[in-house]
Amino acid sequence: MEISCYHRPRSLEEAYDLVVGQGAYPLAGGAWTLISRKNLSSAADLSDLGLRYIKIEGEYIALGAMATARDLETSSLLAEAFGPLFSQALRGIAGIQIRTIVTAGGSVAGRYGFSELLVVLLALDASIVFYKDRTQCLASYLNAAPGAPFLIEKIIIPRNAKATYQCMRQTANDFPILSICAARTSAGWRISVGARPQAAALCPQAGSFLNSLENPGEDGSKRAGLIAAQELSFGDDLRASAEYRRSICPVLVARAIRELCL
Ligand SMILES: Cc1cc2nc3c(=O)[nH]c(=O)nc-3n(C[C@H](O)[C@H](O)[C@H](O)COP(=O)(O)OP(=O)(O)OC[C@H]3O[C@@H](n4cnc5c(N)ncnc54)[C@H](O)[C@@H]3O)c2cc1C
Repeated sequence: MEISCYHRPRSLEEAYDLVVGQGAYPLAGGAWTLISRKNLSSAADLSDLGLRYIKIEGEYIALGAMATARDLETSSLLAEAFGPLFSQALRGIAGIQIRTIVTAGGSVAGRYGFSELLVVLLALDASIVFYKDRTQCLASYLNAAPGAPFLIEKIIIPRNAKATYQCMRQTANDFPILSICAARTSAGWRISVGARPQAAALCPQAGSFLNSLENPGEDGSKRAGLIAAQELSFGDDLRASAEYRRSICPVLVARAIRELCL
């Protein structure tokens, strides 16, 4: 890959001007960029903006856009708030070397279908804070068509949710065939499914069904899994067919719900 004009902004304002004002390509870890892009006429490296953090901000946990997958996987703050959720979901991404490069901001910005992080953040009802004046819930960001250039500053997650993660892969560190996150938030149940192979999506009908039950139990968990599989679309790719994905979806959803109710 060749970058004709490489910038290393020292402030968010400077980065914003380069990315949003002048159309420079925002460069985070470069993990996907390096293998998917050939040439960039102008790139703004986001490494010096102080965005590599995980911290409490009032009712939220804030993930700076440059926090890496490895930071999230090993964060004691996230473990305290959500148990092993982030560690279980993110340790499947490639190897540790890759996980120390890929960032929260890059994973969200890219809307990758295979992204484990998106599945978890969607179930936890996270929002994206764009520098410098806009916050958008992740669900609406994923549903909207890509638009004008933007700069992600951080992702904020309400602290009061509990969630569990399940996925199916061919081998330990391959891309997932299907990944699931089931969460109980202050607004009720949220089930998200990723690697369909399209980007993560919510299952509102399964969520409403679960909200109508006092305790899902074995039957309720299975029923919610079936509802989730019915309300989503699935596709074929190298790893699995749509039919296979639809058939394992209820099993993984039910497992995630049962685990959460233990
Ligand atoms: C071999 C390999 C295997 C992988 N396997 C998996 C996997 O199984 N599951 C998984 O979830 N991930 C996987 N990944 C990682 C995944 O591809 C990265 O999470 C993703 O590419 C983001 O990488 P990055 O943070 O380096 O972003 P970059 O590659 O630097 O950027 C990705 C995109 O996001 C934009 N961007 C980055 N930061 C910002 C920001 N702050 N504001 C606005 N736009 C921004 C960039 O312009 C670019 O369009 C894998 C990566 C590799 C190389």
